[in-house]
Amino acid sequence: MSERVDVEQHRADVAELLAGLADRPVEEAALDQGVLGRVLARDVVAAGPLPRFRNSQMDGFAVRAADVAAAAPGAPVTLPVVADVAAAPGDPAPLAPGTAVRIMTGAPVPEGADAVVPVEDTDHVTFNRGPAGPDAQAGPDAHAEQVAVARGRAPGEFVREPGSDVAAGTVVLPAGTVLAPHHVAAAAACGVSRLALVAPVSVAVVSTGSELVGPGAEPGPGQIFDANGPALAAAVEAAGGRVGLRLSLPDDPATVRAGLARAAGGCDLVLTTGGVSQGAYEVVKDALPEVVFRSVAMQPGGPQGLGRVDGAPVLTFPGNPVSAQVSFVVFLRDLLLQAGGLPPVERVTAVLDDAAVSSPAGKRQLLRGRWVRDAGGPASAPAPAPRVAVVGGPGSHLVASMAAADVLIDVPAAATRLEPGAEVAVWPL
Ligand code: AMP
Ligand code: MG
Repeated sequence: MSERVDVEQHRADVAELLAGLADRPVEEAALDQGVLGRVLARDVVAAGPLPRFRNSQMDGFAVRAADVAAAAPGAPVTLPVVADVAAAPGDPAPLAPGTAVRIMTGAPVPEGADAVVPVEDTDHVTFNRGPAGPDAQAGPDAHAEQVAVARGRAPGEFVREPGSDVAAGTVVLPAGTVLAPHHVAAAAACGVSRLALVAPVSVAVVSTGSELVGPGAEPGPGQIFDANGPALAAAVEAAGGRVGLRLSLPDDPATVRAGLARAAGGCDLVLTTGGVSQGAYEVVKDALPEVVFRSVAMQPGGPQGLGRVDGAPVLTFPGNPVSAQVSFVVFLRDLLLQAGGLPPVERVTAVLDDAAVSSPAGKRQLLRGRWVRDAGGPASAPAPAPRVAVVGGPGSHLVASMAAADVLIDVPAAATRLEPGAEVAVWPL
């Protein structure tokens, strides 16, 4: 007879077992090597200012504000345009008083210029151009240009000062940032090419069962596809972890023992499925005499085990696919997220929609549920009073029904019946 505990007790025991995972090593990655969703282990600091140099905010004309101060509608100030300055390598020549340069967005503003007049605020006048055509006689001023500025400009207008975005030495991205594209943009603009990242927890996912075959195989009589291996591998990755090893082992204790020893040697955590209930061939129980096997007062997912194999923490989940997935959500997901520096998935309070729900006394039930959306409403979870309805049946083999679920509805152990309109906690999937 195995030990009986409630869900919170087992959650606390798993948290204690996995406390060591919080001390994550740091690993480096190039900015363009799949860093999205990863967590920064160290601050990203701007080595220099951003913008790096004084540059133009607009396509237009760089001028001395004093030169166009007298401009007024109907009485523009006209300046000769002496050069073009593009967003290109190099330093432009200083701007002589009484002249303008045509300037492009992002181009360095010449020394002496202190304002940019956007092109749409000017009349751009080309003059002295000779007659068009092949016989045109181009004189010395053939391409002379002028710009007419219709009003005065304040010094600094449309000029981006160095450091106006960020000063040198400033933290651009603090440690703990969960990297999204806009963070990558800031790091790249600062010239950062490599990031220090929190190393994901490396998890070995071990399926057990002689009946299992892998994807692509042709299942023979009595054989089924391994659903838990791929499901838990995906769940590990969704929680910021990394699958360090995947094994599918037959119901032979010696083989399982050897596989788990290998898994323990190479990973931070070992996760098994199957072989932990009350049947005749409970291979994980047989292979791991040092692990505590217990019955948790929940449905599905009651048979659980936790302990260490060769020093590495191991959690043993039951084999039914729904039970394995529910076990991951209830016992491991938040711990993995937190170990990797990611926020936990918040539980949500929802209102039970149409039908009443009955539940066995003394066991917490985790029913598959679906958000109830108003017709024509948004496709995301509705707010502020989300409603949920049960989807599929309670059977822990109903893996396709579970695929239709958005949440797990958490029916308290003491409840034997919930009426429509009852408030329930739900775990988003
Ligand atoms: P067990 O706990 O090993 O007796 O497994 C309970 C049920 O879950 C049995 O019907 C198994 O065939 C099934 N099962 C175990 N492992 C898997 C798996 N990896 N994928 C799909 N079904 C499984
Ligand atoms: Mg089995």
